[in-house]
Amino acid sequence: MNLQRRKFDALIVGAGGAGLRAALQLADAEASVAVVSKVFPTRSHTVAAQGGVNAALANVLPDNWHWHMYDTVKGSDWLGDQDAIEYMCQVAPRVVYELEHFGVPFSRLDNGNIYQRAFGGQSQNFGGAQAARTCAAADRTGHAILHTLYQQNIRAKTHFFDEYFAVDLIKDDHGYVLGCLAFEILTGEPILIEAKTTLLATGGVGQLYRTCTNALINTGDGMAMALRAGVPLQDMEFFQFHPTGIAGRGMLITEGARGEGGYLTNESGERFMERYAPNAKDLASRDVVSRAIYLEVKEGRGCGKDRDHVYLNLMHLGEDVIKKRLPGIRETSIIFTGIDPVEKPIPIYPTAHYVMGGIPTNRFGQVVVPVKDTPEEPVLGLYAAGECACVSVHGANRLGGNSLLDILVFGRAAAEHMIDYVRENNFHRPLNQDSLDAALARFTRWDRKDGGEPVDDVRRDLRKAMEDHCGVFRTEEVMSEGVQKIKQIAERVKYATLRDHSRTFNTARVEALETENLIDCALATITSALGRQESRGAHSRVDHPDRDDVNWLKHSLYFLQSDTLDYKPVRTKPLTVDTIPPKVRVY
Ligand SMILES: Cc1cc2nc3c(=O)[nH]c(=O)nc-3n(C[C@H](O)[C@H](O)[C@H](O)COP(=O)(O)OP(=O)(O)OC[C@H]3O[C@@H](n4cnc5c(N)ncnc54)[C@H](O)[C@@H]3O)c2cc1C
Repeated sequence: MNLQRRKFDALIVGAGGAGLRAALQLADAEASVAVVSKVFPTRSHTVAAQGGVNAALANVLPDNWHWHMYDTVKGSDWLGDQDAIEYMCQVAPRVVYELEHFGVPFSRLDNGNIYQRAFGGQSQNFGGAQAARTCAAADRTGHAILHTLYQQNIRAKTHFFDEYFAVDLIKDDHGYVLGCLAFEILTGEPILIEAKTTLLATGGVGQLYRTCTNALINTGDGMAMALRAGVPLQDMEFFQFHPTGIAGRGMLITEGARGEGGYLTNESGERFMERYAPNAKDLASRDVVSRAIYLEVKEGRGCGKDRDHVYLNLMHLGEDVIKKRLPGIRETSIIFTGIDPVEKPIPIYPTAHYVMGGIPTNRFGQVVVPVKDTPEEPVLGLYAAGECACVSVHGANRLGGNSLLDILVFGRAAAEHMIDYVRENNFHRPLNQDSLDAALARFTRWDRKDGGEPVDDVRRDLRKAMEDHCGVFRTEEVMSEGVQKIKQIAERVKYATLRDHSRTFNTARVEALETENLIDCALATITSALGRQESRGAHSRVDHPDRDDVNWLKHSLYFLQSDTLDYKPVRTKPLTVDTIPPKVRVY
């Protein structure tokens, strides 16, 4: 096989907000940087982010980063690492002002300052009145950020491998990560991209579920690459279901709609959130609102002829506010339901949205694994940032507006550390041939033509199994059955083939490799969920309904090769302020 080879200081897999923010930092420091993306960079899922990015700028209401930190720790149900959360909240204003200077067209207040809206779980003064912390460019904030970062990278001369698919990481004999094997989707030609340091920024894994807000490309590729390279995945049982997906379809209606004053009602027109969260009401944390909607529907108070959804009401905001602040979701509602929210309420139901877990890292973006008696050691040369990583700033539940912040803060932090790493390791190490051979074998395995089951059928069954066995409410019985189903699916994929070899495109090969990645992530998710015998944040066990800080205030780690779980302590010590001790989480 003709294998092209290219060498760079730094390789970044993924061109979403995390990858592009990191690439810009590296390129501006004059490192040679390659960014690999399976779609054109500005089609990464970051482009779809609607509501905004959190930073305590205090432009609309009083605010400071310490309150932001408190809300994030509480939102995480105390599973977030407080050193990382403190760092993120403290640098948030700087990161947002940097974006402003790069040219992001934020919405403006009359005095010219950046517009900020209220989002769920935000408070003033450590749990007091509602705060307004989410900086927005109308309801197209991700679009504005991603396009600006892409343009800045073009200026900085970042090298892009657009529409290349990363297959697996490559290592040397001592475990250093030295880049990856990828292939060009247009031609199907493989390429070895060698780098002194590698950042995984491949985004989330929403495609694990049939109904989700995520793009088709969010298949957990980087997480699965890490698993296969011997790195465990952390806290994968925590998957966020967003309360306001379009009923039956899953597309997102931003939390910003409730931030602007929208509210939920059941079939009798009751504002039911007042019963579940008397203070925060419709702006309670996402896990709380999603569970409330499920219970309303389950108890027969749903709307529509099948009583299978509830309503999001925006009419009272008036046409002007809706058109100015929420134009994108108005369009989404008209296209997918035929309903104009200026006139009628939008039918909504919870939908799979965001993975809190991922590749374990410290706050410098270094991928860390437990080694013998130490709690963790860095994997040399390997970094991760963005939704594929678990720093962990979101713990058991992410607050709206904190993910765009996470990808920017830790994309930037990882790049800073990589710059130092390249200075100290300024040479290319020799590859280990076995690791390259294993990656090549994974790539060529889909050449096989001997009439197995089509891999698309395997993917379809996987997503249904995850929806049926690892959804919002969980029990041991249902999940144990799910683990068995997913293990059978993992066997089936070994013998599957592409649908019709005479007429397939390389995109079919991409989908097959993605399906394998989804299966590895599904095993990590459901095994971790079965392991955790408590309810915390987004992980809600009917058979263990309470949070159990004595036994379970710890992160889970899932190892693929041994199919086992391990646990590590939560970092409860911030860097400069006092620990925020656990208490009951009410809104
Ligand atoms: C509809 C929607 C709305 C949202 N709104 C908000 C919001 O308002 N505020 C907020 O804070 N968060 C929001 N989120 C969450 C947030 O947008 C994401 O968590 C975040 O943008 C993820 O960024 P990322 O850089 O980690 O990954 P992504 O933007 O998903 O980018 C992943 C990149 O990895 C590449 N990639 C993946 N696998 C491979 C492979 N095998 N080979 C090559 N390239 C690969 C892709 O091509 C892509 O470039 C929203 C999410 C969704 C789905």
